[in-house]
Amino acid sequence: MLPCTQCGNTVVVDDGQSYVRCFNCNQMAYAANNQLVPYLRLSPQIDLTEAGATMRRWFASEAAPAGLQGVAMMGQPKAYDFMFWSFSGGNVGFDRQVMVPAVSTVLRELYGLSVPSHFINPDAAIEVEEEAVVPTVGRERAMAQAGVSGGENVQAWLVRVPLYEFPYQFNGRAFRVIVDGLAGQCLVDRFPRKPVSTWLVFLLLGMAAFGIEGWILWGNGIGLALVYLLTAVPALLMTWLVMKRRREDRGDG
Ligand SMILES: [Zn+2]
Repeated sequence: MLPCTQCGNTVVVDDGQSYVRCFNCNQMAYAANNQLVPYLRLSPQIDLTEAGATMRRWFASEAAPAGLQGVAMMGQPKAYDFMFWSFSGGNVGFDRQVMVPAVSTVLRELYGLSVPSHFINPDAAIEVEEEAVVPTVGRERAMAQAGVSGGENVQAWLVRVPLYEFPYQFNGRAFRVIVDGLAGQCLVDRFPRKPVSTWLVFLLLGMAAFGIEGWILWGNGIGLALVYLLTAVPALLMTWLVMKRRREDRGDG
């Protein structure tokens, strides 16, 4: 017997039972390790059309590689729910909810999800039935993965979040953008890089011209090698640093 997380009424949990419903307030909860965690299926706050518009804005934004918008081949979008642990309080604060997939997944972008706290609202939830799907990632492990600490002050939820997935192809490879159906954020793990940086093309052309000029002026290898050392090496280093910085800014380094 455990107290309901919403109304405090006593809830009876049978052995081996994963989900229980409070008969007083109807709140569904996930039961594990002698604890009840409120369980909500959140209703979408944006529809597929709005999510598509969000995805296209991302395609056109600075964050996406140039040329992606015109070249990418879009696949069939998908809408589905995904189960997350959701934490607020502790070192997270109560303004936002940090989410961690409650089921192991290869969708690494889902580990970056965080939404303002008002989206976790029992009044805006869809009715859920008891079901076979249970978390494969425990609460403690999820908290560790998200860097959430604060012991008793951490509020945990188990939530099913509506997601929209937009697959696309670029240069023969498959990529995807996932838009969360609550706050409408684009979740991106990997996306195509620019095939060749314009910085690098300019530098190589410049160096080639410089080499030919040097050869005409001095006509021997030693003077040319010296000039290259003094000019080309720092220029290459600077270009490399700039490209590295740009990749890191975009988060695909
Ligand atoms: Zn209750």
